[in-house]
Amino acid sequence: MYDPLELAERVERAVIHGERRKYYRFRAAKFYGGIATADAVGCNLRCIFCWSGNVVWHPEKSGAFYSPEEVAQNLRKTAAGKGYHQVRVSGGEPTIGRGHLIALLEHLNREFLFILETNGILLGADRTYVEELSAFPNIHVRVCLKGCTAEEFSRLTGARSGFEYQMKSLEYLRDMHVSFNVALVSMKKEKGELFSRLLDMGLGNIMMEEERIMLYPSVRRRLEQAGMLEYFMDE
Ligand code: SF4
Repeated sequence: MYDPLELAERVERAVIHGERRKYYRFRAAKFYGGIATADAVGCNLRCIFCWSGNVVWHPEKSGAFYSPEEVAQNLRKTAAGKGYHQVRVSGGEPTIGRGHLIALLEHLNREFLFILETNGILLGADRTYVEELSAFPNIHVRVCLKGCTAEEFSRLTGARSGFEYQMKSLEYLRDMHVSFNVALVSMKKEKGELFSRLLDMGLGNIMMEEERIMLYPSVRRRLEQAGMLEYFMDE
């Protein structure tokens, strides 16, 4: 088992050089009704159902370094070509490399809705990160919870801790009035424990989506080996 904060530090050393970060592609995607997407390399989790797999888990082997200005230009160009008003960083974990992410948001100059898809760990570990993000009114944060409990989180990610940071990120986003919603991956049919925690946090009405797991051959193989495929078969 690993510590996602320690892993984030190691990954950051591989994917960040100064203000530049590694990405492996830029593309137009159909999600959210159409969004310009920069796919980053590197993540601080190892979710068993991850479909990005090798590209994000072995950052030294893929991608190239881009400055925040270059990423902003690529996103702008993709958005202009398709008439999109939304941009995002996807692929790996976009909160790794705080300086890069903040500089990217500055370069985008509030021209677009920026959807920050994150596992929330680094946001929950440092309140000041959320404070800094809250200065950008054009942000919407989508926190993907890996499980309904700390135990399920560890089973899905192989990490010894992290679920409480995920929950903390929701608390900070709430406190700082940042627009956000929750996505959830869970093997549990009964999600009452999570729902009552959210209720206690005043988040009973939060928009919650179930993350759809894509059963690509490598994902299917991993789930099969772990005896967890059945939980995702109806995805
Ligand atoms: S947080 Fe996302 S990118 Fe990272 S391992 Fe999990 S599914 Fe993959």
